Amino acid sequence: MTQTPVASEPPILRVRDAIRRRQRFLLTSHARPDGDSIGSQLAMAFALDALGKDVRLVNADRAPDHYQGFPGMDRIEIVARVDTSAVDAVIVMECGDLERTGVAGLDHPFIINIDHHVGNSLYGAINWHDETAAACAEMVFDAIRALDVPLSFEIATHIYLAILTDTGAFHHSNITPRTFDICRQTVEAGVNPAAMARRVFDSNSSGKLKLMGTLLGSMVLVDDGRLAVLHMDDGMLEACGCTHNDTEGLINLPLTAREIQAVVFFKVTPENAVRVSMRSKYDVDVRKVANAFGGGGHKNAAGFTVEGRLEDVRPDILQRLVVAIAEGLHTRPLP
Ligand code: 5GP
Ligand code: MN
Repeated sequence: MTQTPVASEPPILRVRDAIRRRQRFLLTSHARPDGDSIGSQLAMAFALDALGKDVRLVNADRAPDHYQGFPGMDRIEIVARVDTSAVDAVIVMECGDLERTGVAGLDHPFIINIDHHVGNSLYGAINWHDETAAACAEMVFDAIRALDVPLSFEIATHIYLAILTDTGAFHHSNITPRTFDICRQTVEAGVNPAAMARRVFDSNSSGKLKLMGTLLGSMVLVDDGRLAVLHMDDGMLEACGCTHNDTEGLINLPLTAREIQAVVFFKVTPENAVRVSMRSKYDVDVRKVANAFGGGGHKNAAGFTVEGRLEDVRPDILQRLVVAIAEGLHTRPLP
């Protein structure tokens, strides 16, 4: 007997019931994957395996090298377009809107949308949206528990990987007791935090170290040293023997300086567009800046892409960041 879901039922229960009633799933997440998109996706995949479901995983882009050795990575197909007619549901994790996937053809009648970004456009048949989650994987963890799937080593690894990376290695301001409670359970399931941190953060190539030097050497400080501006183009990458996959995490380097409250990282693309990533400390809200340019993210980590030349778009972006820093510093917690 099938039950009609009650609209007022908590979304996690609607997600649980929808998964129980269906057999064939397509799982996806956002373009240019990060630890939370990969971790959420694969934790969910292993949980669906445990329930005997059919699972297909697709992403628009390959994940950076330091994620490649994790369990199940070889199952993710890299596609520009997908045909969803053979599945009963599409589970989209970690995407504020469907375009964030970068995959065409996902407009299936039964999309389960699981996300923690502010401003999710509620594009699913079921929308489970929790802005208080430090990582989307906190929600995936709860879903897996609700489905009564045991926390296997593979699932625990991906949940921890997602939380470790999406909290900026436990630096961001959205960490709660729940975050540590979930991490505790993953460690009990066999995750080794020291090994995870080494694997994710200490796996740089020597070319990447060179790139760090080049980037920091050309760093510009504005707003009395509170805002660091980094700039990168393909020429710098080539000169250091690097690819775009080597750029993850570089943006965080300036935040290790006490005075620096925010960082903006400009990547000039050959298509006459500028990819902008931002990071901040405490209550400096870079998401607001990203929103002003059609992007998104979180208070301490956000991004967007703008058309045009760097010199044309840069002044407005810097001005908005200076305002965000001034506003954020008013409410800065004591160290
Ligand atoms: P990153 O700077 O690492 O690319 O992204 C930082 C955060 O901002 C991530 O959580 C990501 O979800 C969000 N973000 C980055 N770029 C975009 C974008 O173009 N659109 C939206 N909506 N979010 C973005
Ligand atoms: Mn996330």
